Amino acid sequence: MTGQKIPGIQILPFRGEYYELKPEKQYLVNNLIYPVPNPEFPFLGVHYTRMIEGGIEAGPNAVLAFRREGYSRWDLDLSELLETLSYPGFMRLAAKHWRYGWGEMYRSFSKSAFVKALQHLIPDVGYDDLQRGGAGVRAMACDLEGKLIDEFLIFEDHNIINVCSAPSPAATASLAIGKTIAGKALERV
Ligand SMILES: Cc1cc2nc3c(=O)[nH]c(=O)nc-3n(C[C@H](O)[C@H](O)[C@H](O)COP(=O)(O)OP(=O)(O)OC[C@H]3O[C@@H](n4cnc5c(N)ncnc54)[C@H](O)[C@@H]3O)c2cc1C
Repeated sequence: MTGQKIPGIQILPFRGEYYELKPEKQYLVNNLIYPVPNPEFPFLGVHYTRMIEGGIEAGPNAVLAFRREGYSRWDLDLSELLETLSYPGFMRLAAKHWRYGWGEMYRSFSKSAFVKALQHLIPDVGYDDLQRGGAGVRAMACDLEGKLIDEFLIFEDHNIINVCSAPSPAATASLAIGKTIAGKALERV
């Protein structure tokens, strides 16, 4: 965006952390393994993903990042964090889902808790079968009522097309997103 905000919408950064399954246990995962999602949240819950270059990722969780590019648990930017915490939509979200949020935060620091969540899908995966992997940050749009927006949000102003929310599966949908934006641009020619 160009400094202009969509009224009532703010982007909240949620980090997703992964573990990796060690090679000797990768035979346990021959395909993508997902839980049944909770429709209240745009996050799927931890799952197992076979990577295109080999290897198995396990995760991600969904924890509030303390800065927009907060890829590690220790990344903090006070002014960005205050911006998040003081947003009325975030306050409403936190009041409603504080238990879920604390659970995710706890899993971020406790490997045992993370492993327990993964064992719901594969009981044979043990603590020592996993090593810490990477992390990504989802830019989640949140409205003033505290609802995380799980739809694509494209906002057009005078001469700019802003992609304000591109929730999962944005990579899978990237060609369609590009086509939509190109279509909108062509309408202006
Ligand atoms: C935890 C998590 C789980 C996800 N799961 C899914 C999923 O299951 N399915 C799905 O379809 N999508 C998923 N997504 C969304 C998907 O990852 C993103 O939509 C996609 O990666 C966006 O692609 P991009 O190329 O626009 O941006 P990015 O993948 O972020 O790539 C941007 C690149 O630009 C580089 N860059 C940034 N600034 C500069 C600069 N100034 N100079 C040079 N290089 C720069 C960055 O280093 C980066 O490599 C997930 C995202 C997260 C965070």
